[in-house]
Amino acid sequence: MNLAFKDRIALHYLLATAALVAVAYLVVFGVVRDRVYTDLDRNLRLEATKHLGELRVAGPVIRFANREEWEEREHREVQVDPVFIQLSDPQGRLLDRSPNLKADQLAFDAAPGWRAPHNSMLRGKALRQIQVPVEQDGRRMGYLLAAISSEAARHVLDSLGLVLLGSYPVVLLALFGLARGLAGRSIAPIIAITAATNRITRHDLSARVALPPRPDELHTLASAINGLLHRIEQAVAREKQFTADASHELRTPLAALRGTLEVLVRKPRRPEEYVASIGLGIQEIDRLSHLVDQLLLLARFENHGQDLHHQELSVLSSVHDVLHRHRETLSAKCLRVEVPAADALPLRSDPYLLDLILDNLLANAIKYSPAGSTITVALGAADGRLCCAIQDEGIGIRPEDLDRIFDPLYRSDALSHKEISGTGLGLSIVAKACQLLGIELSVASELGRGSTFTLRFPA
Ligand code: ADP
Repeated sequence: MNLAFKDRIALHYLLATAALVAVAYLVVFGVVRDRVYTDLDRNLRLEATKHLGELRVAGPVIRFANREEWEEREHREVQVDPVFIQLSDPQGRLLDRSPNLKADQLAFDAAPGWRAPHNSMLRGKALRQIQVPVEQDGRRMGYLLAAISSEAARHVLDSLGLVLLGSYPVVLLALFGLARGLAGRSIAPIIAITAATNRITRHDLSARVALPPRPDELHTLASAINGLLHRIEQAVAREKQFTADASHELRTPLAALRGTLEVLVRKPRRPEEYVASIGLGIQEIDRLSHLVDQLLLLARFENHGQDLHHQELSVLSSVHDVLHRHRETLSAKCLRVEVPAADALPLRSDPYLLDLILDNLLANAIKYSPAGSTITVALGAADGRLCCAIQDEGIGIRPEDLDRIFDPLYRSDALSHKEISGTGLGLSIVAKACQLLGIELSVASELGRGSTFTLRFPA
């Protein structure tokens, strides 16, 4: 059955209260019944004891001693609540009875259970009856049966039963309606939250769910949804910015290439002019293919991560490999690279990604360093973790840009250094690779004095 949430809550509440109300009704009925019959049974026992003392034993039979006086009283008085008395022999045959019984007899049963007060019937009327054994010198002479009308009691109990039974479904129905109303009120904030989240679209992520006034679970839920929306909004904004920047970065070399070719075809040129223009074109194509390679690498990291192949390796020899690859630029700029000797801890990591990280960081250090300066690559251990700090004496990074240089395509102060080419993708690739390898990456920099990028490898 597909019930609404509030109906489900109301139904569960109803089942629980149905059981509780049923128990309460049974208790009420039992207490009233007990009270009514306790009074009747006390009277019955009193009458039985009184009449036991008024018996006369004649041989094997027992009779009432004051029968005449009794009959006379019967004629004189009107009995509102008559007590019926009967004497029976041990087999239940009638020996004597009170005059008010006329020709009727009280029901008899020799079973011991009948000695206690119990319900019985006479001429279609309800009776409360007791059956007391009569003994003489240890011999069972018979039984004295005493009974009084329990019509009033039965009437009270029947009415009470009817009221309880009749009111049971009404009470349950009222409770269900009440529970449904209360559940509806309790989940109203959830409906408001759903409506608010439905209004939020990809095009307008600025809307937020209104926070419920009380600091309860719904308040926590609404806050969590708002937090999620904030993160989604930021991610979408980053994605939009990235798309705009990427298309701009891709268009720039294409426009430059097109411009060069257009100028070239306008009129016939000398061979050296063709060589120069084609050289420029090749440079733009290289820039474009480098950019596309980096974008693809970043997209691969974003979409699928990277299959990691950890193996025992030395960061020192990886640093030397990278420096060897950049030896021409290093010597062209007369850069000095210092790698102080240190006891480096052994490391298990992915060689491809580690090379990618070191290559990007060292390439930046080389690119942003002035000719003749020094680059220091310090390896060491701190808190049982291997650290590698790449320090340069380059242009440095503005403090306000330190957080942004890891964003894709972001280039700090690019216009002031037009001669230094770049894509703005290297550090975002480094950050992603560090995240995959569990490496902590930090940067410290002072504008105009140099930068230090530090890698803290996992223990
Ligand atoms: P780019 O291709 O522009 O070098 P990166 O993602 O590698 O892209 O770097 C992002 C920006 O961070 C760079 O444009 C530069 O402004 C700054 N940057 C990175 N490394 C250094 C460094 N060693 N010295 C100075 N600035 C740096």
